[in-house]
Amino acid sequence: MSVIETEEQKQLRAAVAALAERYNYVDYVLPKARRHEPLTELWDEASKLGFLGVNLPEEYGGGGAGIYELALVQEELAAKGCGLLLVVVSPAICGTIIAKYGTDAQKQQWLPGIADGSKIMAFGITEADAGSNSHRISTVAKRDGEDWILHGSKIFISGVDQADAVLVVARTEDAKTGKLRPALFIVPTDTPGFVKTPMEMDIIEPDHQFTLFFDDVRLPADALVGEPEAALMQLFAGLNPERILGAAMAVGLGRYALDAAVRYAGERTVWKDPIGAHQGIAHPLAQCKIELELAKLMMQKAAVLYDSGDDFGAAEAANMAKYAGAEASIKTLDQAIQTHGGGGLTQEYGLASLLGAARIARVAPVSREMILNFVSQHSLGLPKSY
Ligand SMILES: Cc1cc2nc3c(=O)[nH]c(=O)nc-3n(C[C@H](O)[C@H](O)[C@H](O)COP(=O)(O)OP(=O)(O)OC[C@H]3O[C@@H](n4cnc5c(N)ncnc54)[C@H](O)[C@@H]3O)c2cc1C
Repeated sequence: MSVIETEEQKQLRAAVAALAERYNYVDYVLPKARRHEPLTELWDEASKLGFLGVNLPEEYGGGGAGIYELALVQEELAAKGCGLLLVVVSPAICGTIIAKYGTDAQKQQWLPGIADGSKIMAFGITEADAGSNSHRISTVAKRDGEDWILHGSKIFISGVDQADAVLVVARTEDAKTGKLRPALFIVPTDTPGFVKTPMEMDIIEPDHQFTLFFDDVRLPADALVGEPEAALMQLFAGLNPERILGAAMAVGLGRYALDAAVRYAGERTVWKDPIGAHQGIAHPLAQCKIELELAKLMMQKAAVLYDSGDDFGAAEAANMAKYAGAEASIKTLDQAIQTHGGGGLTQEYGLASLLGAARIARVAPVSREMILNFVSQHSLGLPKSY
């Protein structure tokens, strides 16, 4: 593993940063977020430049690079306040799973669109009664001749209004044992019986969350992704990229808040020197810088492990990176608001409006406590408590 980026990676970073500058938080994202409008112009331009499909195979129109590069794209966007939530789901989770496990027909149908951004696929695993315990999900797909009949519901699913389809985690009945086991289905959002309802969230962000209801949705045989026997492996193939991309978004948002704080601390003068001269202001910002860099390093380690094919090693690092990124970005945003004094709570500086969005990373895609459970059990070998 090298921590030194290649010339290509550096150029990609610079190109994404230049685009993000034009679609920055205060001028572009915040007004849209207040109106709950998606960042369509940014999505389209970033797609056209090949940024959003950078991890997908070249033969399907992607960039042929890895999750490292997609995380880099997300981090640089978020560092200007314009991270794209649906990058976490569409190219990172769904694109990865289909590229690795989809049938040829599924790859042909979905990957070129996901790679060039013209198609968006949301991802649905969370259910109201299962929550963090995804073993309890009860959305079931039953065979009806060649078709599948999908019944159940989902909650908190991001971006369904922008999506062409949702990759739904359901269960099928094992023909031999009768036991239910996970299976992934591609469900186009215009399928009869697919009902989406926007949730009333108190987050100022461009994307919406939805509850979904599958009212005996009839799906063709080829809606099932890959082999039913490999469903768990398929799921894990998508969950590590999800965590790495979540970490990238959090680290980027932290960088955005830190930049704002440092700028203000260097200018604002209420005694004889700028407030950044007071250690009470400077040291917490220095701590934030260190914690963001550490989180980024763990995210890069996770991405390198994942791209090298070490799914198991990547799982520990991806969980740690998501934890560290979330904690560092929430702390940094809070410190940036404090650095601005009363100004931090005004609309002028666009910091307090990020509080809800920053907080997402502590809960989703996997909560802080579930990561601590993972590390307790898998890294430390402690007994499971639940
Ligand atoms: C903005 C947003 C976007 C989202 N987008 C998506 C999406 O696109 N697709 C999707 O499928 N889901 C999505 N989610 C759902 C998200 O993944 C879940 O909210 C998350 O996994 C936690 O589940 P829960 O909300 O049911 O909390 P619960 O599982 O009810 O947990 C409640 C609290 O209890 C704690 N807890 C639970 N079990 C344990 C335990 N064993 N030990 C210690 N503490 C425990 C949790 O950490 C948490 O603090 C999104 C959520 C949000 C907020």
